[in-house]
Amino acid sequence: MRPISRAVLRPYVCPTCRHGIGAGQRRFASKSDPLDIYDVVCVGGGPAGLGLLAALRSSPITSKLKVALIESQDLNKAKAWNLEPTQFSNRVSSLTPSTVSFLREIGAYDHLDTSRVQDYQDMQVWDGQTGSRITFDWSMETSPFENPRTVATMTENANLVRALLRRIADSGDENLSLFSNSTVASIENGSDLAPQGPNLSAWPILTVKPTTPTETTAAPKRIAARLLVGADGINSPVRSFADIPTQGWDYGRHGIVATLALAEPASPPFPATKRTAYQRFLPALGGPIALLPLPNNHATLVWSTTPENAAYLKSLPTPAFLAMVNAAFRLDMTDLSYMLGLPSSSDSTSTSPSHQDELAWRAQHTSIPPQIPPPATAVQTGTVASFPLRFRHAAQYVSPRIALVGDAAHVIHPLAGQGLNLGLADVASLSKTIQYAVSHGMDVGDLLTLERYSCERYLPNAKIGGACDLLHKMYNVPGEGPITWARSLGLGVVDSLPFVKGFLMKNAEGY
Ligand SMILES: Cc1cc2nc3c(=O)[nH]c(=O)nc-3n(C[C@H](O)[C@H](O)[C@H](O)COP(=O)(O)OP(=O)(O)OC[C@H]3O[C@@H](n4cnc5c(N)ncnc54)[C@H](O)[C@@H]3O)c2cc1C
Repeated sequence: MRPISRAVLRPYVCPTCRHGIGAGQRRFASKSDPLDIYDVVCVGGGPAGLGLLAALRSSPITSKLKVALIESQDLNKAKAWNLEPTQFSNRVSSLTPSTVSFLREIGAYDHLDTSRVQDYQDMQVWDGQTGSRITFDWSMETSPFENPRTVATMTENANLVRALLRRIADSGDENLSLFSNSTVASIENGSDLAPQGPNLSAWPILTVKPTTPTETTAAPKRIAARLLVGADGINSPVRSFADIPTQGWDYGRHGIVATLALAEPASPPFPATKRTAYQRFLPALGGPIALLPLPNNHATLVWSTTPENAAYLKSLPTPAFLAMVNAAFRLDMTDLSYMLGLPSSSDSTSTSPSHQDELAWRAQHTSIPPQIPPPATAVQTGTVASFPLRFRHAAQYVSPRIALVGDAAHVIHPLAGQGLNLGLADVASLSKTIQYAVSHGMDVGDLLTLERYSCERYLPNAKIGGACDLLHKMYNVPGEGPITWARSLGLGVVDSLPFVKGFLMKNAEGY
């Protein structure tokens, strides 16, 4: 973490609006324009930004603060999000028990549609090359017959965002401004503002523009923030304004996501309510494949692989795509590499056997362990998509009157399903920091106030992001060799040492 400097704020100008506001920027700093003043302005209405707003509104100490949130997407659409009970969004996250308890604490969990949420109690993780395996079975922690403990809770991001918006709406309109369909056109510090009123010389001044201007909303608004929070994702404008650099790299991998229907397991797991998440590392293919449970025998797929494999998999017709997913949990690396070279079966001139035939034939000659997911039988239309995977870590989370949370501060490999959990842990910490400041008469934007948040979150985020990065690198070494040996030893040893495993289980729970 680099030392925190006090004079780092630089004007931010949105690259896409540059032409529209160039000259106007000076005008925004003129003495005659009205300027709305807020205690906290949050840029970004994803899970982190909405989580912060819901947390501030739910605490009696901070509920009267004047707060604003700026989001370029349509928040009304997000609030009205609705899908058939048999359909699931492809953007799904696993929430750790500590995230769930934070959501309960701020009153947001009650607004989740829990019929669309799935707990799981067992996690099977294994190395597709060496076969070494680790089993995290929380159901044995208490009794195998009742109240199995939850490893994590799967929820669609859209369900979570809608719940947070409903929680915020419940808190009333007083002192709250939601700038939906609006973007931050520029951020400047208030150095050349009029001297009357409070001294805003060191406050960030934002110019907010509607993304689709209408006659009534076309005029940009200027707002001043005692504390400006960047919850604005990987390309954070707030981070640019604060001139906070990030370290990191692109993994050269894509995460393929899809919503799948699974066959009923031949014999239901015991106890019948127990659900399992599966992850198999595929060193020869560029990353792990994971299948995480959703209600009604559905599952969400996250398959990290090379961009070439991702493009190939996305180009396959549904039966071939399903065969590849099922093969990835069953066949060995050589068979999988071969199947990834088969022509797409949409090619009518091809005489090669289909992916389904190859899987059926090769599975007969493979020793398949029993702890694998039931076969995927269908893909929900329109849910196969992919995202580039990246690692980023901001050099610092705070500077005078600025705090970064969520993906604006850190982006990590999704193999442990921790990104959103870390973001909500940031939010829990920052909201407590703000509460502390308010109850002790401190300035919420002062660096001394904000350092409490930074100290609490920087190292835990670095630790988890670094561990995911290390796992990604270790499991990308195919073939025989010391790393492969260490890998198999690693999982094998961890699995046989209850105390070490217990420690890992606690970390996965987010405690
Ligand atoms: C394949 C994949 C699987 C994942 N699975 C998991 C998982 O299982 N568990 C987990 O914990 N995490 C998971 N993650 C990570 C998780 O999705 C992210 O960490 C999380 O969504 C980040 O939330 P956020 O609110 O910080 O940022 P975002 O969701 O990126 O939100 C940022 C918001 O800011 C807005 N914005 C940006 N710029 C501006 C601007 N100039 N003006 C106004 N608004 C702006 C954007 O519109 C957006 O709504 C996964 C990620 C991937 C890629």
